[in-house]
Amino acid sequence: MNHPAPDWHAAANALRPDGRMLIDGQRRHAASGETFACRSPVDGRSLGDVARGAAVDVDAAVAGARRAFDERRWAGKPPAARKKILQRFAEKILAARDELALLETLDMGKPIQYSLSVDVPSTARCIAWYAEAVDKVYDEVAPTGDNALALITREPMGVIGAIVPWNYPMIMAAWKLGPALAAGNSVVLKPSEKSPLTALRLAELAVDAGLPPGVFNVVPGYGPEAGEALALHMDVDAIGFTGSTRTGRRMLEYAGRSNLKRVYNELGGKSAFVVFDDFGDVERAAETVAGSMFFNQGESCNAPSRVLVHDSIADRFVAHVAAQAPKYPPADPLDHATVMGALVDDVQLATVMGYIEAGRSEGARCAAGGRQVRTETGGYYVEPTVFDGVAPAMKIAREEIFGPVMSVLRFRTEAEAVQLANASAYGLQASVWSDNINRAHRVARALRAGTVHVNQYDEDDITVPFGGFKQSGNGRDKSLHAFDKYTELKTTWIRIDKEARP
Ligand code: NAD
Repeated sequence: MNHPAPDWHAAANALRPDGRMLIDGQRRHAASGETFACRSPVDGRSLGDVARGAAVDVDAAVAGARRAFDERRWAGKPPAARKKILQRFAEKILAARDELALLETLDMGKPIQYSLSVDVPSTARCIAWYAEAVDKVYDEVAPTGDNALALITREPMGVIGAIVPWNYPMIMAAWKLGPALAAGNSVVLKPSEKSPLTALRLAELAVDAGLPPGVFNVVPGYGPEAGEALALHMDVDAIGFTGSTRTGRRMLEYAGRSNLKRVYNELGGKSAFVVFDDFGDVERAAETVAGSMFFNQGESCNAPSRVLVHDSIADRFVAHVAAQAPKYPPADPLDHATVMGALVDDVQLATVMGYIEAGRSEGARCAAGGRQVRTETGGYYVEPTVFDGVAPAMKIAREEIFGPVMSVLRFRTEAEAVQLANASAYGLQASVWSDNINRAHRVARALRAGTVHVNQYDEDDITVPFGGFKQSGNGRDKSLHAFDKYTELKTTWIRIDKEARP
């Protein structure tokens, strides 16, 4: 469909997002009447006030979700009917593409071209994919003797609390919503206080699509208020959490202090990108790592932020990566040509600049970038930054930065490369670049990460699981495996009489 590109600045000026929460199918203010200001990292403009959800609002949302579940308003519908409603929800997301993309860009700073081409379509595809699964996933019959039948069925858990971050607000919400709703649960979603707008709009679209009231509720608010109340709630059966490892620890504590609800953590990363000297196309490897690292301003959990390069090709590799950096100049996110937008807020800006400072003071060489730019806009922009000569003990080699900062380390042997790659508290993704098929397989198996890429980094699809080893989390989003998180397995034994009764 070819339609003229909207004037995004005019559209942004005309935007009046509704910041009220959505509970039981209705928009409403926080019980306290309190709000928090929503500001755009693009230029500091006000996007309006958003309801500041607190425990009392979470109570109302969970009660509504529980009622919807107990009355089987959703789980009780025929699978084909549930599929249709979720398909309609996906269609409505696509139909609202421009509005959702604009909200996402203004709220968290990513370039509009990617909100349009990645965030909105991926969100819709996720919902549509799980819609299709509703009437295609079968349960099991166990291999028992003649005198019994044992059914192994999946049942919805009940009320799912979803707590998500700000880097891909819609996509992260969809990764929880898709499987949780397809399985027949009710959901209470707590978006990040830094990016609450698209979640509220998504819930409205779901209601328009015919999702019964109470099945999908959104309570915006701060983590230690709305988030904590949801994770501590005695009537929430599971928490699907995506966010930092620090908050993930709290989720486990909340479960321990309350009803032992299931907790599925999708947490941080410091993914290793390992380039061997037998890989012929060093330039392609360098271009790929730059593209993946600087996408979304480096605010991606799976960003390949730890680059390990064989010593003999490292100078050539670093020179080429450094030459890529200027191809990602921070610019106006509302300009369709922009490829690098704004960091989400002043806190994230200070964190990223703090790491750049740490890299310099610990003795790494800044080969590209390193500065805050576009300060005159009132937004938060940092140049794509490459550090060479990084030692494993440095902060920038160990800690997740969550900004456009890449650390390059050098190695001499395969064993050293594997040891360095695995010497991390995280294990979300990794990548190995080698033209030696034995080495590529050997190293791919040795890397401790939920996803390992070989000679590429960009492939991804809703059909494959996404999640981490170690402190990158425990659950898996996406694919049919995500149903494991939002369903209980039930075994039903049925006796079969050997003889017909007289
Ligand atoms: P965060 O942990 O600060 O916040 C995530 C969510 O938790 C937000 O909704 C926040 O309000 C809430 N929260 C914060 N403190 C809380 C508390 N005390 N109690 C209850 N809820 C609380 O993380 P962030 O800064 O929003 O997101 C960045 C992190 O997310 C990075 O570490 C990134 O790697 C990770 N992430 C992981 C994945 C993945 O799939 N593994 C995907 C995207 C982002």
